[in-house]
Amino acid sequence: MELVKDPRFIGLVPFEQRLWLSSPTMHGEEQHWVNEAIRTNWVTTVGENINEIERQIAELIGVPYAVALSSGTAALHLAVRLAGRKLYGSSGAGRGALEGKKVFASDMTFSATVNPICYEGGEPVFIDSERDTWNMDPAALEKAFRLHPEVRLIVAAHLYGTPAKMDEIRRIADEHGALIVEDAAESLGSLYHGAQTGSFGDISAISFNGNKIITGSTGGMILLNDGKEAELARKWSTQSREKAPWYQHKDLGYNYRMSNIIAGVVRGQLPHLEEHIEQKRTIFERYAKGLSGLPVSMAPAEADFRTNRWLSCMLIDEEAMCASSRGSEAPSFSPEAGKTCPDEILSVLLQFNAEGRPIWKPMHMQPVFEGMEFVSAAESAVNEDIFARGLCLPSDNKITEEEQTKVIELIRRCFG
Ligand SMILES: *Cc1c(COP(=O)(O)O)cnc(C)c1O
Repeated sequence: MELVKDPRFIGLVPFEQRLWLSSPTMHGEEQHWVNEAIRTNWVTTVGENINEIERQIAELIGVPYAVALSSGTAALHLAVRLAGRKLYGSSGAGRGALEGKKVFASDMTFSATVNPICYEGGEPVFIDSERDTWNMDPAALEKAFRLHPEVRLIVAAHLYGTPAKMDEIRRIADEHGALIVEDAAESLGSLYHGAQTGSFGDISAISFNGNKIITGSTGGMILLNDGKEAELARKWSTQSREKAPWYQHKDLGYNYRMSNIIAGVVRGQLPHLEEHIEQKRTIFERYAKGLSGLPVSMAPAEADFRTNRWLSCMLIDEEAMCASSRGSEAPSFSPEAGKTCPDEILSVLLQFNAEGRPIWKPMHMQPVFEGMEFVSAAESAVNEDIFARGLCLPSDNKITEEEQTKVIELIRRCFG
């Protein structure tokens, strides 16, 4: 192994079993509810598991309506389509609901936050983050409204479980008569001023994707305040069939409804949400303690929120960054005594059989969104800086204290 030659890592051996960034954690109840679906023959898109998780999630988050869908992306798509309809009216059933309209969107996030804007013919304007939460910067949002006062829709995500400054974002949205679609895919169970994320948007989305804090193996939900919109989401998600004996369609349809089998997995996971959050928070605290004294800082500290710490992330101090660059695919870096960079740490972890990840690459830096506008209130883009200096550490629920101690030791030695 190459690493054995690197004197910094002498005496350390790779993990026998792969340490994952964040993998599913099953408990057994999932099996029970999946079996129930099969035993009773309710295996498609209708059934008790679906009803039950919709009820439980609406109650947990404190929203009147929840509709279970095939993914968080599907939820975000129906959310922006509903918002577009409400704001701009129907431009014809077969047309995008945001045709030619600009939409303000989080810039540092997973692409699934913003893709649905484009599915509907809209044009995202990416908003830089602030440093307190790494989420949409209210100052940049205000600046964006000064540039484009006609905009009426904001799509905002809570990165890595940490809530965005929703009070300020809501105040600015209200000032401009804009709606908010809240992407709470990563933040299930996180609180902002005591209220659950997913309750702040006019319409919100959550995800049960395989690496999220709880999972259905796949799946998601749209959360709504309006009963008519909830009915519409339900209808659109099942191919928009009208109540006629033949197949009658007044609207575009989608095959987006969740299956009762997937809902069984979610139903078995839900009682373990708090337990997963506690595990994730403990993992974060151990990293924070273990890495103290190094020229690094951990992801935003809690203020008026509780984060589910879905992933543990850190930032390397500017003075401790070695020379590094990222082309379109492969990174390159030149190790230096006392300095390192995210790509070096990630490559060391990988060689020791542990999975970390760079911070979400900002949307305004993505080739697919080339030419689209980016608005920052800072002198230089906050997101480019966090992307350059930040990384996500192995954050799997099942990581042991011993394994984490070794990850910490590997990171320490990268600075050697
Ligand atoms: C995972 C994720 C999504 C998409 O959810 P899926 O269920 O995978 O479609 C959307 N937004 C963010 C921020 C995510 O992390």
